[in-house]
Amino acid sequence: CGIVGYVGRREAAEVLIDCLSKLEYRGYDSAGVALFEGSEIEVVKATGRLKILAEKLRGRAPIESRCGIGHTRWATHGAPSDVNSHPQSSSRISIVHNGIIENYLKLKEFLLQNGYTFESETDTEVLVKLLDYHYDGDPLSTIIRTLAKVRGSYGLAILFRDLPGRIYAVRKESPLIVGYGEGENFLASDIPALLKYTREYSILEEGEIAEIDEAGIRIYNEFGKPLEKERLTADWDV
Ligand code: GLU
Repeated sequence: CGIVGYVGRREAAEVLIDCLSKLEYRGYDSAGVALFEGSEIEVVKATGRLKILAEKLRGRAPIESRCGIGHTRWATHGAPSDVNSHPQSSSRISIVHNGIIENYLKLKEFLLQNGYTFESETDTEVLVKLLDYHYDGDPLSTIIRTLAKVRGSYGLAILFRDLPGRIYAVRKESPLIVGYGEGENFLASDIPALLKYTREYSILEEGEIAEIDEAGIRIYNEFGKPLEKERLTADWDV
């Protein structure tokens, strides 16, 4: 029920857990993060409270990462479990998702016929594997062509393994904002997640795609055309 993303100079895992903790009030049953470490993506996820995810992160070799995405899940397709938690991944892409992919069974059948296998019961795993099916090295066009086949609602954050240090985000009927920092940038499903780090943000509108890295945030419309977005300032406290 929450999405966050971070790229900058801080320890990404710490920032992501901290931002997710500000969204705990929305309720969730599991949580997870995907972090770039060099050119690999490390995924850590756990059923239950964020505390359990934080302990799992502390209990393993530290992940040296400056860029990642995080998620708290409110299960709709597949019971709460470690396997069904997000991020969901293919060999080259990891995503976190809020919402419901309505035609996921049909898409899953198509992907099974094309050699994909599935570990979880989630609609989200179908979405990441459909992105993988369409991936041709061009993230924007891949996202646009994939979402043209998808019915349902989504707030979505995406890491492509061959594009380290960069986060893509897109939404439909599920909120997402991007936050602007100094040499660091953010993504979240709600403003309270970011207030400790920045008050400058833009709201992603339906179908808009954000491309976020350390250098900046670029936003495109549903056809991949660059947009000038209004920047807002949050002048309230949590
Ligand atoms: N439909 C997805 C799932 O059940 C996402 C749920 C959510 O919004 O957290 O895994």
